[in-house]
Amino acid sequence: MQNNYRSGFIAIVGRPNVGKSTLMNALIGEKIAIISDKPQTTRNSIQCVLTRKNYQMIFVDTPGIHKPKTKLGEYMVTVARNALSDMDAVLFVVDGTDGIGAGDRHIAELLKECRIPVLLAVNKIDRTDIKRAEQDAAELVQFGGFDRYVAISAQMGTNLDKLEKKLLGYLPEGPQYYPEDMVTDQPERLIIAEIIREKALMLLKEEVPHGIGVETERIVEKPVKDMMVINAAIYCEKASHKGIIIGKGGKMLQDIGSQARADIEKLLGTRVFLELWVKVKDDWRNDPATLKSLGYDVKKLQQ
Ligand code: GDP
Ligand code: MG
Repeated sequence: MQNNYRSGFIAIVGRPNVGKSTLMNALIGEKIAIISDKPQTTRNSIQCVLTRKNYQMIFVDTPGIHKPKTKLGEYMVTVARNALSDMDAVLFVVDGTDGIGAGDRHIAELLKECRIPVLLAVNKIDRTDIKRAEQDAAELVQFGGFDRYVAISAQMGTNLDKLEKKLLGYLPEGPQYYPEDMVTDQPERLIIAEIIREKALMLLKEEVPHGIGVETERIVEKPVKDMMVINAAIYCEKASHKGIIIGKGGKMLQDIGSQARADIEKLLGTRVFLELWVKVKDDWRNDPATLKSLGYDVKKLQQ
C-alpha cells in the first residue's frame, strides 16, 4: 500500500510580540494561542496541530529560546539545542516593521548552531515598506545560514499559503500523529484560562501588570440546554488589585467575563455560562503548588 502521508514538528521562535501566536491562530484557523500587546504572555508551550488531507504539521512554541537573556554563550546554545532536538524545522518569525535588531540576531546566532532547516517569516508586511523588510530578511537569511524567507502578514492572511507550502517541504514521510479534529494538545481548561487571562490583561491595561493568574476550576456540561457552565478564578496578589479587577459595581469583571465568554463559545461551539471569581493569594507567583494548578510548567519557570 502506498503511503504518501507527511508529518512533522515545527518550532515557532521569535522575539516577543512579533506575531507568533497570531500566525499560529491564522494557520490553524482557531483561537488557541494567546495574543497580546504585552510581551511574554505565552507562558505555556502550546502545540497546535494543522491537519490536511496529505499532511500534518505540529507547531510547538518554545519560550526558552526567545526569552531575552543577558547571559549568552554555551548555556543558551545548549538550551536551544535541546528544545529543538526533536524538530523537523524551525519557523523563525521577525517583525518587518521594526527592522531587524539585536534580539533577532541573538536568536539567529542560536539557530545557526542547530542543524535544522530554518524558514524565516517576515511578519506585519501590511504595516511596513516591503522592499526594506525584504532586504533586512535577505541579510538575516545570509547571516544565519537559513533556508529562505517568506514575507507575510499573519493578521491579513497574506502569503500564508506560500508559507505553508514551504513548510510542507520540510516534512518527512510520517504518520498522522493526532486525530484530525484536534487542534491542540493543551487541555481545554488551560486554553479557557489563557483566554480569560488575555482579556483581563487587555482590559486592565497596566493596572495589575503581571500579578494575575487564572484557573479554570470546573467545567460542567448541561446537555439538556446545550450549554456549559464554567467556573474560573482570577488570582491576584493584593486586596487592592482585587478591587481593580472587579471594578466599579463589578463592571470590569463583567467586561472580562463577557469578552472571554464570546471567545470560549467560539472555541467550544456551544453556549457558555461563565462564572468568574477573584481571589487574593499572597505571592502566588512563587508558590509552586499554585503555579502547577494554574497549568504552568514549574520546572521551566525555575530555570
Ligand atoms: P507573539 O508575542 O509573537 O506571540 O505576538 P502576538 O501574536 O501576541 O502579536 C503581537 C501583536 O502584534 C498583536 O497586537 C497582534 O495583533 C500584532 N500582529 C501580529 N501579526 C500582525 C500582522 O501581520 N500585522 C500587524 N499589523 N499586526 C500584527
Ligand atoms: Mg505569543
